[in-house]
Amino acid sequence: MNNFEEIIRKHVLKNAFDYGKANAGAVAGKVIAEHPDAKNDMKATMALINKIIAEVSTFSKNEIEERMKRYAYAEKKEEKKELELPNAVMGKVVTRFPPEPSGYPHIGHAKAAWLDYESARVYEGKMILRFDDTNPEKEKQEYVEAIKNGLSWLGIKWDKESYTSDSMPEIYDYLERLIHAGKAYVCTCPKEEMSRRRASGEECGCRTLSKKEALERWKGMLDGKYQPGDVAVRYAGDLKSQNTVMRDPSLARIMLAEHFRQGKKYRVWPSYDFAVAIIDHLEGKTHPMRSKEYELRDELYYSIFSDLGFEKPHLVEFSRLAIKNAPISKRLLKPLVDEGKVSGWDDPRLPTLAGLARRGILPEAIRNFVLSLGLSKSESEPGWELLLAENRKMLDPVAKHYFFVRGPVVLNVKGLEQKAKIPLHPKKGMGFREFDVSGKVYISWDDAEALREGEVFRLKDLCNVKLTKKKAKALEGELAEDSMVPKKIQWVADKHKIACELLIPHDLLDENGNYNPNSLEIAKGYCEKGCTELKKGETIQFERLGFCRLDKKGKKLQFVFSC
Ligand SMILES: [Zn+2]
Repeated sequence: MNNFEEIIRKHVLKNAFDYGKANAGAVAGKVIAEHPDAKNDMKATMALINKIIAEVSTFSKNEIEERMKRYAYAEKKEEKKELELPNAVMGKVVTRFPPEPSGYPHIGHAKAAWLDYESARVYEGKMILRFDDTNPEKEKQEYVEAIKNGLSWLGIKWDKESYTSDSMPEIYDYLERLIHAGKAYVCTCPKEEMSRRRASGEECGCRTLSKKEALERWKGMLDGKYQPGDVAVRYAGDLKSQNTVMRDPSLARIMLAEHFRQGKKYRVWPSYDFAVAIIDHLEGKTHPMRSKEYELRDELYYSIFSDLGFEKPHLVEFSRLAIKNAPISKRLLKPLVDEGKVSGWDDPRLPTLAGLARRGILPEAIRNFVLSLGLSKSESEPGWELLLAENRKMLDPVAKHYFFVRGPVVLNVKGLEQKAKIPLHPKKGMGFREFDVSGKVYISWDDAEALREGEVFRLKDLCNVKLTKKKAKALEGELAEDSMVPKKIQWVADKHKIACELLIPHDLLDENGNYNPNSLEIAKGYCEKGCTELKKGETIQFERLGFCRLDKKGKKLQFVFSC
């Protein structure tokens, strides 16, 4: 028995053990990963895989488990397992990331985009960035740019960029075919009446009009005979269906707003459900993904595919990202921006990509965070903590260290005349901060509060001091013997201080989902003058406080607290 056959057998057993029955596509992916030459003759590879699957399918689960013991299985990369797609064929997978350009991208988009991108990569396929732009009332070029910038910042490269609105002629054509086939009709009933009928399960007269009449109405929609709200193309579904999505949903309606890309060219616009099905077909997607809240819409999606005789793709669902006390949806985000409750789409309290970037969250940390959630459908509400922990892990080895004192209180130390030479990083050789210290330093108000007269403490990386006098606004001290003392305090030398403001974001929403007016704390104080040499956007560590990103340079420095 040759080695190649053994590799296949090993993966067939494992796949059968994990999923009950082995999937040839999934096995092929594993086999190629271990033995890339298998790609050279895919026909022979697949034939052999299918032969071994047939053989293994006669084994009981215990037998499979027993036989698996003969093989060594590489430590499975969790990410790869999570991104297994059903019936995927190496090199043939097409995924898409389909944002509507009606707002700035947020971390929920990052999750979808990373899943689309990484699964395409796992199967050496393609990812299409498709702008789902069929609501002229909400969409703008500004948002298209923001989405593209956000994806590039994340490090996602799409293979093709497309716009649903560029396919309007095809969309119209397919709508007309559905009407022709009696699978859709043009309904002129008032909206309230249709809502009532959809609830009670009664069809309206429009559904039984002749094809000729229906097509005339359709023409009328295009020609300007109807006004917005007067008419809709409806899917001839099942008004008694348990799935309310199937109760004659709207497939197209009239909207007269100017479209950011198409101008006034079109007055009839497709619904999300119709557009997504048509474009997924036109662009040959094999594994379109969407979050689980669309699950009820799957039936309509596949029905449209059947009615039009399209080959069906494999819809893949994942759980929608929710983060505790953070507004992760356009519906919640936009009013906060419009009402000025935050400073803009890049406010560091927001879970937008622009906000996260301003907060010093690294794109790699976002990637690891969202991919760790994978394609799982189970709902979970991870806190920010997980993302921040990931970010800290990445910043720790690279961020320079400095001191910041909040609400500074002066400390005069008798006889203090010293050169300070403090490493920029405690472990990595990044060089030093060097300066002269004489007499006067500043410490944080809370450290000052906690000191008692007579207490000996250490000005970190400098010297030991004994507190001789404590007044409300000033402290007096003297040099103390250089021995081990438990208390270490960060400080800034008088001659080397610069005014500094630190924005500290807190949860934007309270437990009830309402805006938290105390969500942005501003800490004022001094930091080391050396911070003026940092580049805008650089993230450093203020010791004992955390990582902070330099947001603004000027007479004062402004940092945003990261994690
Ligand atoms: Zn009607």
